[in-house]
This record gives sequence, C-alpha cells and structure tokens, in this order.
Amino acid sequence: MNRDEMVARVRNRKEPWDIVVIGGGATGAGVAVDAASRGYDVLLLEREDFGKGTSSRATKLVHGGVRYLEQGNVSLVMEALKERGILLRNAPHIVKDLKFIVPNYSWWEAPFYGIGMKVYDFLAGKYSFGASKVLSLEETLKLLPTIRQDGLRGGVMYHDGQFDDTRLLINLMTTAAEHGATLLNYAGVVELKKDDAGFIQGVAAVDSESGERFEIAARSVVNATGIFTDEIRRLAEPTVQQMMVPSQGIHLVFDRSFLVGDTALLVPQTDDGRVLFAVPWHNRTLVGTTDTPIESISYEPLPFEEEIEFVLETAGRYLSHKPTREDILSVYVGIRPLVKAAGAGDGKTSSLSRDYTIHIDHSGLLTIVGGKWTTYRHMAEDCVDHATTLGRLEEKPCITATMHIHGYHQHPEELGSLSVYGADAAAIQQLAKENPELAKPLHSDLPYIAAEIVWAARNEMSRTLDDALARRTRALLLNARAAIQVAPMVASLLAKELGKDATWAAEQVKIFSAMAAQYIPQGTKYPATPPVVSA
Ligand SMILES: Cc1cc2nc3c(=O)[nH]c(=O)nc-3n(C[C@H](O)[C@H](O)[C@H](O)COP(=O)(O)OP(=O)(O)OC[C@H]3O[C@@H](n4cnc5c(N)ncnc54)[C@H](O)[C@@H]3O)c2cc1C
Repeated sequence: MNRDEMVARVRNRKEPWDIVVIGGGATGAGVAVDAASRGYDVLLLEREDFGKGTSSRATKLVHGGVRYLEQGNVSLVMEALKERGILLRNAPHIVKDLKFIVPNYSWWEAPFYGIGMKVYDFLAGKYSFGASKVLSLEETLKLLPTIRQDGLRGGVMYHDGQFDDTRLLINLMTTAAEHGATLLNYAGVVELKKDDAGFIQGVAAVDSESGERFEIAARSVVNATGIFTDEIRRLAEPTVQQMMVPSQGIHLVFDRSFLVGDTALLVPQTDDGRVLFAVPWHNRTLVGTTDTPIESISYEPLPFEEEIEFVLETAGRYLSHKPTREDILSVYVGIRPLVKAAGAGDGKTSSLSRDYTIHIDHSGLLTIVGGKWTTYRHMAEDCVDHATTLGRLEEKPCITATMHIHGYHQHPEELGSLSVYGADAAAIQQLAKENPELAKPLHSDLPYIAAEIVWAARNEMSRTLDDALARRTRALLLNARAAIQVAPMVASLLAKELGKDATWAAEQVKIFSAMAAQYIPQGTKYPATPPVVSA
C-alpha cells in the first residue's frame, strides 16, 4: 500500500465510487474487504491512522464471550464462535488458540463453570477450538504456576482465540487493496454531499498531510466511525438523536513473570459483576478490562485512578505475586461504541448489548456501529448487502468466509519474532539481510528490529512515529518507557523513508513522547473517578 498512489487515485477519479467507507477501524476495514472482494469500487477514508480509534485497544481476544453467555445472549455467542473459527481458518498467522482457566476456590465453581463451558463448547459446534475440561489442583497449577494457591481447589479449562488487533487490521487493509480498494489514512470526511432530493451522493474529505480537499461522488456511503458515529450522522442531519453510548475500558500491561506459562486466567465474577482477563500476549501479561460509562470521547482517553486500582486489586487477588503500580509497563485505554436501544438498560454500560446495529438515516446514510472485533466479517457482509441495495448496485455474493487474509501462513511458529507478519516475514528478513543495520533490535526490552519500521513505512502506510510504535509494531503497549527511548532512532529511520527532514523527526519525537508519557502511570496523575453518567 502506497499513500501517494492512493491519493492520486482519489484525485483522478471521475466516476462515482460504488461504496465510500468512512472510518478505518475493524468495522470499516471489514466492509472494504467484503465490498472490494465482491468486485465493487471502494474507497475507505480514515481521519487519523488506521486503528487509531478503538480497534487498536482491544483485549486481543477472538472470542464468543463467556460473559454474554452468562447474560443469556446465546445468538451473539454462537455467531461470535462461528466467526472465531472462520478467522482462525483465514488468518492463522494472526489468530491462535489459547487455553483459559477459570480458577475454582469454592466447591460449587467446578460444576457450575464446568457445565457453562460445556455449553460454550456445544455452541461452537464444528468451529470448536477444543473441549473444555474440569482440572484437578495439580493440573491447574501446572498450567498456571503463578496463580494464588491458598484455598485453590482446581479450575475449569476452556479454549478461545487470541490475536494482535492492529496487525490484523493492517492485513485487512492490504487484503482490500489487493482486491482493488483505495484506502487513505489521514483523510477525514468533513462534509456529506446531498442531491436536490436530500439524499447522500458523496462526501468531501481533507488530506491532513497536504491540506488538499477532495470532492468525492459515491453511490453509497457507509458510516463506520465507531465512537464518532453521531458526529458523522449530524453532518447529514444536524438534529438526529444520539445512538452511541461510550464506555471506557483499560488494560494494564506487566512483565511476563506475573503469568508464567501459555495459559490465560479468567476471573469470572469481579466486584462490579464483570469478568477480568489476565492474558499472555507478546511475552507480556495483559490484564483487563473495565466498563466505565464516560461523558466525552477522545482519541487518547485517560484511565481513571479508580480503574487502575480496581484492576490491580482484582488481579492481586488471583496472582501469587501481587502487581503494583510500579510494575505497570503500559496502560492503554479504549472506548466501546455501544448502542442503546430506546428505553433499555439498567444504567450500567456493562449490561448494554454487544450486538451491532445497522441504521439508515432519511438521507440514505448507512451507519454500522457496535459489535465486536471478533464479528467484523459477519457485520461487513450484512452491511455490504444493505449498501448494494441502497446504492442500486448489481448484486454479487460475499466471498470472505473462505478467503485468506493477507499474510496467510499455516506455520507462523516457524517465523520466530516475525510470526505475526505471516507470509510477509520473508520480505522483512530480506530487508534485514541486505542491510545489517536493519537487523538490529530496536531496544533490549522490545521484540522488534529496525527492518519492521522500514517495512511498515514502505508497505503499510505508516506515516508517523505513533503509527510505527503503537499500531505497526506494538512497542507503546508492550513497554511505554522503552518506546519513548527508541523514538529518536525510529523517527530518523521514518524520516529517511518518507523523505522528511530532521526538524520533522524532532517534532515527531516531541509529539509522540508527550502522548506516550500518558501510558506510564508512575509519575502521571489521572482523574480520580469517572463522572456519574447513566447509560
Ligand atoms: C477495552 C476494550 C476491549 C475490547 N476487547 C475486545 C476483544 O478482546 N475482542 C473483541 O472481539 N472485541 C473487543 N472490543 C471491541 C472492539 O474493539 C470494537 O468493537 C471495534 O474495535 C470497533 O471498531 P470500529 O471500526 O467500529 O471503531 P474504531 O476502531 O474506533 O474505528 C472508527 C474509525 O473512524 C474514524 N473516523 C472518525 N471520524 C472520521 C471522519 N470524519 N472521517 C474519517 N474517519 C473518521 C476514526 O478515526 C476511527 O479510526 C473491545 C473494546 C474495548 C473498548
């Protein structure tokens, strides 16, 4: 993917696009892949970088959602379990099977969760990742050696999926591009164009790198902007009722020593009635998440002190080595775009549905919002079916259920630290071979080499230091301090690739370091408690 080439395509386009997608997160990327692979002319516009919104901030699980089963939402769980299986089949380099254990400290937990997980297995049907099992104390300790032992009776083990959210996102963008889609990051939609009858017939977008404005004609416009959904809907009709309810979730990242082994821990009932995961991810321990209703949305939301304390306290009850604030390598925060059905809810965002919604405004703007990363493909299929009707496009069948995602590789474990790149790993290794400087690790505490930065700038439209360190590599999430330390070196690599000067590189370091400092809780004071907001 080359940005200059993408800009030229938008500039030179004379015909209306079949489908213009606003938003480059999981939802927009899914729609672009689906529509382009059916053979439609697709343009995707992203205001920031691909994944800068919620889609880079997930718990990294491709899952049916044990919690939704508890809530009785069987159809959502079944659909997600099916999508989990499809995703493993189509992107085995990014998605993997992970064992989870629900620890049992009371006599009733083994039969209770044992039966629950059998239902979970059953609902997966032919897409099952493996059977769940009630474990003895010894078996539990073997898989989770760092779990708190006093009072432990055993555990219930089940299977779910794990992934790297932005690596999948970039692979989806590349897949869409390979099917002819045009994709632009740093190009925000600022206006929706209507015909005389008031129907949407295009958008205006501004390239934030050059300031160039594009007038873009479209047969169908899809609003896939997550937490910014209502902002776009108001461009079409300023008086529309808000449909999106924001809820924030935080994750704390710790050293791997807190969760030794290849098995994740699920705390099935936290004090606020949710679940908490401690998951091994890229050789770290990732713990989360929370579900906190918030008033205002932003690209870099801050955690609340109360949330950090809650996660530390809950994790500390289940891990033999209690994590403290000093142990946190990074804290990252995401905002869920939840949809409120009229009159529904008990005031808690945790009880709002995780189902997605497709909504068509009077102007013909097609909005898709909510859902989960796991179900992005199914959501996209449904959305494109609607978009083709609205845009009076020739009907063409969806082919994504059996389509490989870019990077497909059956044995990623053979690729070592480059496994998430799948089939692209060979090209990155070649870069490192041709130039030994690029074979050097970025930092002793990060699993990346310089060639990855260069690869992403040349092929994945990485444009800023934040793109390179937060979403092409995951340095910021794995160790925010180390990410700040490597920033000057990475900025000069990027500057060279993008034809920028030293002033640009210095400015990038300044902007990135200020932002990344917010991921380090030591020395940073966050707001104490969330505002009182009713969902
Ligand atoms: C804490 C947390 C944990 C989660 N964990 C999981 C998990 O483990 N598994 C799972 O399946 N799901 C998980 N989810 C849910 C999942 O992350 C979301 O459902 C998904 O990422 C939403 O994607 P999206 O594309 O709709 O939104 P986003 O990713 O936010 O994308 C919307 C995009 O629209 C862009 N945009 C906005 N305005 C404009 C404009 N004017 N012009 C152009 N572009 C614009 C934004 O910049 C943004 O990039 C989690 C969510 C949270 C918050």
